[in-house]
Amino acid sequence: MNKNYEEMHPCFSSDAVKKFGRVHLPVAPECNIQCNYCSRDYDCVNESRPGVTSTLMKPEEASYYYATLRSENEWLTVAGIAGPGDALANADKTMETFRLIKEETPDVVFCVSTNGLRLPEYVDELHSLGLRHLTVTMNAVDPEIGAQIYSWVRYNGVTYRGKEAAELLMNNQIEGIRRAAELGLSVKVNSIILPGVNDEHIKEVAALASELGATYQNCLPLIPVESTPFEHLPKPDHALVKKIRTESEKFLPQMLHCGRCRSDAVGKIGQKTSEEILQFQKYVTRKNKETGNKRYAVATHEGLLVNQHLGEARKFHIYEFEAEGLKEVEQRTAPRSGSGESRWKMLAELLSDCEAVFVSTCGELPKKVLSENGVRLHQVQGLIDDILETYESGKSIERFAKKRSGCGSGCSGQSVGCM
Ligand code: SF4
Ligand code: SF4
Repeated sequence: MNKNYEEMHPCFSSDAVKKFGRVHLPVAPECNIQCNYCSRDYDCVNESRPGVTSTLMKPEEASYYYATLRSENEWLTVAGIAGPGDALANADKTMETFRLIKEETPDVVFCVSTNGLRLPEYVDELHSLGLRHLTVTMNAVDPEIGAQIYSWVRYNGVTYRGKEAAELLMNNQIEGIRRAAELGLSVKVNSIILPGVNDEHIKEVAALASELGATYQNCLPLIPVESTPFEHLPKPDHALVKKIRTESEKFLPQMLHCGRCRSDAVGKIGQKTSEEILQFQKYVTRKNKETGNKRYAVATHEGLLVNQHLGEARKFHIYEFEAEGLKEVEQRTAPRSGSGESRWKMLAELLSDCEAVFVSTCGELPKKVLSENGVRLHQVQGLIDDILETYESGKSIERFAKKRSGCGSGCSGQSVGCM
């Protein structure tokens, strides 16, 4: 195996594009900033853009997943973490994933994409784990312009907005990139072209990034995404992209072959992820690895009906389909109430190996947090057997759907629920 890391990374070497591939490991669901062009989604296999993934993995699942894919595809040299949130807003998961992979596959090439907010804290640790390639998204080096791009930045428990937020982010990016370059990392700076916002400014990003020791720049046209503040910005046309790349090239070599990959992309750049690998992702994350059975979680009072509000469930009943039919295989204690959003994150972690979760009703906050953390939640009512058999067979469960969902008059909970 070629040990020149630069030449083994298809994103950092145009010669490596046809020879080597990468796998993005979706272990990082959370983000610590809000870019006005970003929406993170799940289950959208037809959509190919950063921030989109079909599944989330735990570090041990990601390690098993990479080792298995690599054993069958020697050319799959790069294991990267690129979301669906920010790799360093989930630093413990990112580091643990790299540690586990390194033990199994010492010649892996690691890669991280980050907004850079926490880079100064973690760059040395990443380097000691063997990271040689880093991507930092840097859209502005002027806080006035940055303030138009970021809704907020959350740092050490405080939420910043406006110029203050942009300045904090920018300063940490600068410090992090400088340190990464000192450590000898290849640093690629991604800059999203936002017409009317930073299109006249990207060359200044290139100039500063070059001074700091970055190696490449990747100027990417905005993909306007529905329901984001920048959904109405025009998509940059070919001429604008070319102009910006030509201006910026004076300071930094430009990457021209980026595939704008999903957070769970696998293979060579430009290749669509095969159905076989998508099925394998599901197997890795949502099945009992010993039996291969899917697991389902249910909120129920008596074990017969799906009839319990999410917030009231003290236990979740876990079911699998075995040869003889549906069987309850375990019960899991739900996190205690009263801890707000963190309760729902803990619940998402607890049920992360389940194919789907069935409750009678739930509030908007848990629905949002669970969805952001990769849990497929269904609000239904009826016999557990009927609902799960219908779901397992791939048929619609619409007829079981609770007609008025969420809290309020339609909620069957007893007001002890959603916080
Ligand atoms: Fe989205 Fe990445 Fe921006 Fe976070 S840093 S809001 S994941 S684009
Ligand atoms: Fe490489 Fe671009 Fe894909 Fe990242 S998004 S893995 S830089 S091709």
